[in-house]
Amino acid sequence: MAMTTYEQIFENNKKWMAEKKTTDREFFKRLAEGQDPDFLYIGCSDSRVTAEEMMGVQPGEVFVHRNIANIISNTDLNAMGVINFAVAHLHVKHIVVCGHTLCGGVRAAMQPLDLGILNPWLRNIRDVYRLHRKELNAIENEENRYDRLVELNVEEQCINVMKTAVVQKTYLSTGYPLVHGWVFNVRSGELIDL
Ligand code: ZN
Repeated sequence: MAMTTYEQIFENNKKWMAEKKTTDREFFKRLAEGQDPDFLYIGCSDSRVTAEEMMGVQPGEVFVHRNIANIISNTDLNAMGVINFAVAHLHVKHIVVCGHTLCGGVRAAMQPLDLGILNPWLRNIRDVYRLHRKELNAIENEENRYDRLVELNVEEQCINVMKTAVVQKTYLSTGYPLVHGWVFNVRSGELIDL
């Protein structure tokens, strides 16, 4: 993989600014006017899974929250703040929880390793495994079990999103937001709607 140097980033930024201005004169003027995204995207911090690029959307279209293994815990002030702001103030119509194949966080949670501060975080996925252990343990092929845990983790995190007070209240009064579970296949680039 070709690696970008630190200095190149600022060169890239200059090129990007110029490109944007030539293709759309009003681009930055519109950005400065504010944001009105319809989507809240909750995904993994993994560098291979870019929210906007794989969805083919422009700046201003998606409100984004990323953490290791796209986990939503109701004691996580950061995630709860993002969901509350997106639903109550930005009035997003869709909340997406997007997991991905070959997720290092999910892989780590499947192994009995001591990962320091990550232990209590990955505990959330170990709980998903425990909830679905019958189904998962019945899958003999380890790669298939790993892929299935990625999907089950997305489903469980969708439930955690739906259980938040702001989502329940807003959904009852407006019919929105709708909650969706996705998996991004790193091997092929395909986005799968669960
Ligand atoms: Zn990941």
